[in-house]
Amino acid sequence: MARRKKIYEGKAKILYEGPEPGTLVQYFKDDATAFNAEKHAVIEGKGVLNNRLSEFFMDGLNAIGVPTHFIRRLNMREQLIRSVEMIPLEIVVRNVAAGSLSKRLGIDEGTALPRPIVEFYYKDDALGDPMVSEEHIIAFGWASQQDLDDMIALGLRVNDFLSGVMIGVGIRLVDFKIEIGRIWDGDFMRLVVADEISPDSCRLWDLKTGQKLDKDVFRRDLGDLADAYTEVARRLGVLPVNTGKLGKPTLIN
Ligand code: UDP
Repeated sequence: MARRKKIYEGKAKILYEGPEPGTLVQYFKDDATAFNAEKHAVIEGKGVLNNRLSEFFMDGLNAIGVPTHFIRRLNMREQLIRSVEMIPLEIVVRNVAAGSLSKRLGIDEGTALPRPIVEFYYKDDALGDPMVSEEHIIAFGWASQQDLDDMIALGLRVNDFLSGVMIGVGIRLVDFKIEIGRIWDGDFMRLVVADEISPDSCRLWDLKTGQKLDKDVFRRDLGDLADAYTEVARRLGVLPVNTGKLGKPTLIN
């Protein structure tokens, strides 16, 4: 069988040509990176968990009318997605101070913010993904004013959805990052949530204990990352059949 064409390989995922025009296959690797790829490890089972979790979140968003690139999961590590034109920005939404916000502004981690805050970062590894303002985005043509308004609205809708889902299973959504793409239909363009939504790109704290259940476990050496993601998946009822770790054999559906 001919090898399928690789379109792009990133730090945690690979994109392959899809079965039909306008589609791609997104493959989730086990690689974990942090600090602009200075720290790297292979965490057995992470790709399987993120494939499942991203499916769960994207499916939910599609169901409430927030458009995403997600079509369906294909197998343990792959999902079928719509091919989109990526906007070179990371959209971060924050509910609670943590990470770079705490560092930059000297606000204690864990401080509840007066309202959700939306930030934009320019995706450029060589520059270390610098934070940019709406002025930069428009002046450099990465997105229009209309796109910006739409991206903020999408970010806030995703925030409301994810916060609600998480609170239901005893998890506080501290912050998260999404990426957005354009889908063209002739001259008509719409923005959709793309990339992935998983504990790699969210901060998730246990509501009662404050225990971290996200990539900070890896960034800050707080324990076993796969265990933390498994706990999130278990609470959401989307535990994968087989994470790659050896255990009792189970039927695959
Ligand atoms: N984030 C991400 N990819 C990045 C940068 C940030 O997914 O390249 C996520 C991160 O996991 C967190 C949120 O965006 O949930 C805010 O991250 P922050 O700006 O605090 O940066 P960090 O402390 O992760 O460097």
